[in-house]
Amino acid sequence: MWKRRDADIELKTPGQLAAMRAAGLVVANALRAAADAAAPGMSTADLDAVASDTILAAGATSSFKGYHGFPATICTSVNAEIVHGIPNPGKKLREGDVLSIDCGAIVDGWHADAALSIGIGEISAELARLLNACEQALWHGLARARVGGRLTDISHAVEQSVRSAGDYGIVEDYVGHGIGSQMHMDPPVHNQGRPGHGPVLREGMALAVEPLLTAGSPETVLLEDGWTVLSADGGVAAHFEHTIALTADGPWVLTAPDGGRSDFARFATPLAGSLAGPAGCAADSRALNNSAAGNRAAHS
Ligand code: MG
Ligand code: MG
Repeated sequence: MWKRRDADIELKTPGQLAAMRAAGLVVANALRAAADAAAPGMSTADLDAVASDTILAAGATSSFKGYHGFPATICTSVNAEIVHGIPNPGKKLREGDVLSIDCGAIVDGWHADAALSIGIGEISAELARLLNACEQALWHGLARARVGGRLTDISHAVEQSVRSAGDYGIVEDYVGHGIGSQMHMDPPVHNQGRPGHGPVLREGMALAVEPLLTAGSPETVLLEDGWTVLSADGGVAAHFEHTIALTADGPWVLTAPDGGRSDFARFATPLAGSLAGPAGCAADSRALNNSAAGNRAAHS
């Protein structure tokens, strides 16, 4: 079974990864612009406009808008909303809210996808710990995206990081995914599991790794709008995501402006050896120039 899955995983050429890097930088800029604009009194539709303007100004296209009918450029999920919240002019942010923003963009037909969670104004120490646990788990997972490893090495590293941080729910109804010529591709990337299983990680693979944590039960419910996913018990949720490429020189975080260097260090990941080297750097400069101008679990 896994052999068949292995064969289904798209491998990218360096040129295709360069296009994904260009898309990744657009996503990083759009997320940063939306997060910087987020403040009490702003609506989630206001933030959608900021992200949309950023993507269009870069000459890129939103991955989300029109995807299975999704009506917006970003997903905005507030407090107990875990993922896929629809921006709404009537939904105003309030001091103390937790907001998750998810964004995808396409350059030359190649996708990148990332998400982050932020506090609006001051948030409680408890919620700040939830956000930190989720972001740290993402980086620990990304550090295991190494050629020659196995897919669930990533899943296991995410889970271990979460377990060491506290008693959080790890959502399993929505998981990460392969990405490239489409936003959602094989393989699904789970956020827990035993290491050493699943497809062998190969050069040219690209994955969206995205832990979703709740301050309670990981069970989810779907809102009547058909999109918004809520925690079943009303617990606040956090969501962090990056798109990563597997290169011979190490993991290359396509949606991090510096390729991941500072956050691998910041979160003290077990990343041995070098990060994406000369190939990554060359592709980075091209990308910067460009941008200046299954199973029960669903992909998120
Ligand atoms: Mg996403
Ligand atoms: Mg995703």
